[in-house]
Amino acid sequence: MYDLIVAGAGPAGSAAARAAALQGLDVLILEKEPFPRYKPCGGALSKRAISLLDFTLPGNICERTITGARVHFRDHVQERHKGYDLTTLITRSSFDHYLLQKSLQSGAKIETEKVIDMQEKDDWVSVRTMGGIYQSRFLVIACGCQDRLKNRIQGPNRKETTGVCLVAEIEEDDNLIQERLGSTLDIHFGVAEDGYGWIFPHKGYYSVGIGGLCSRLSHPRQSMRQFLKKNGFPDDQRLSGHLIPQGGNKRLISRGRVLLAGDAAGFVDPFMGEGISYAISSGKIAGQVIGEVHAHQVARTYEKRIKDDFGEELRYALFFTKIMHSFPDIFLRIMACEDEVLDRYIDIAAARISYKDFMRWMVPRIPMSLLRAI
Ligand SMILES: Cc1cc2nc3c(=O)[nH]c(=O)nc-3n(C[C@H](O)[C@H](O)[C@H](O)COP(=O)(O)OP(=O)(O)OC[C@H]3O[C@@H](n4cnc5c(N)ncnc54)[C@H](O)[C@@H]3O)c2cc1C
Repeated sequence: MYDLIVAGAGPAGSAAARAAALQGLDVLILEKEPFPRYKPCGGALSKRAISLLDFTLPGNICERTITGARVHFRDHVQERHKGYDLTTLITRSSFDHYLLQKSLQSGAKIETEKVIDMQEKDDWVSVRTMGGIYQSRFLVIACGCQDRLKNRIQGPNRKETTGVCLVAEIEEDDNLIQERLGSTLDIHFGVAEDGYGWIFPHKGYYSVGIGGLCSRLSHPRQSMRQFLKKNGFPDDQRLSGHLIPQGGNKRLISRGRVLLAGDAAGFVDPFMGEGISYAISSGKIAGQVIGEVHAHQVARTYEKRIKDDFGEELRYALFFTKIMHSFPDIFLRIMACEDEVLDRYIDIAAARISYKDFMRWMVPRIPMSLLRAI
């Protein structure tokens, strides 16, 4: 009987396991893939995500520090640089492997097994894998958005509240990457049916990808190939990707002794697709709460701490995204063409301001911005 079983060893799972193990709990991680494993991702690790780690990332994991963004919308291009670091580019196989090692160092154990089912009992949870049955006092489901285990709490994903992201890693000489983008993220609004596209300058490769809502983006592979071609890349790249939840929507994130964290819970910024920081944050909160409060208060305390920590922020981000989907042309033109608007928006990515702050700042300026945009 473990204190905690964590299903999935992505950022959410590793953060949950570490937080619980650091409190002296007996923790087992069940992960279906042997690590290090490939994970489709743009690899943009926000400042907020880094600030949540209780250790420093080694230099070889941090490939490039980003200080600015170049934003495209139709034929408008605007570039803004900040006097501070916005984000750090990492490759997920090494980053996730490092986080997992940190959770093992703190005392958690791991088995490479896929969780296929779970059953809640009065005082414990029974977890079934291909290899057998495990028991624990609590279960954190951190298997991402696509795995069906989370459906036992939330039900299946809905097209209207689920997105899809595709990515290709395209090898390139570092000097040419430096010349094309340097320390700049290349972000394209309005591609992928009012979704977004990106070109990120990693070490020795570009991460090129698109993201959009499933209910709008009916042919993601086709949109991705168009995006590649339009930006001067061969369109026959190997594409990878998966579903991501649209954060900010109401979803069940706990029941009794089972907590959902990261993508499995639905914690992704609906506008930018940033999910790593919310995965780490929710995993950490889950692991802490299980060690801190009485068993029957765990689910409620977890929900409250999530709400206080970033629940409101995701709701504002969703509101912002819905405005964009209602008036995409004008909205994206304002975002991409007005220096001051973009400048402020970048501050959200750097965790300097919240969506709420941004919207409060923006609302009185909308009439003038509209006049300029029309
Ligand atoms: C193409 C793409 C680009 C993205 N780019 C960015 C970005 O640049 N920045 C950013 O912040 N976010 C980005 N995201 C979102 C980000 O990847 C996720 O929000 C983040 O990985 C969520 O972490 P997680 O731990 O919840 O899940 P995951 O990272 O998906 O980890 C889940 C783990 O669970 C394992 N697993 C699954 N099912 C089972 C099972 N049944 N039993 C055991 N193990 C299981 C998987 O093997 C995996 O290791 C991107 C997403 C995609 C798809």
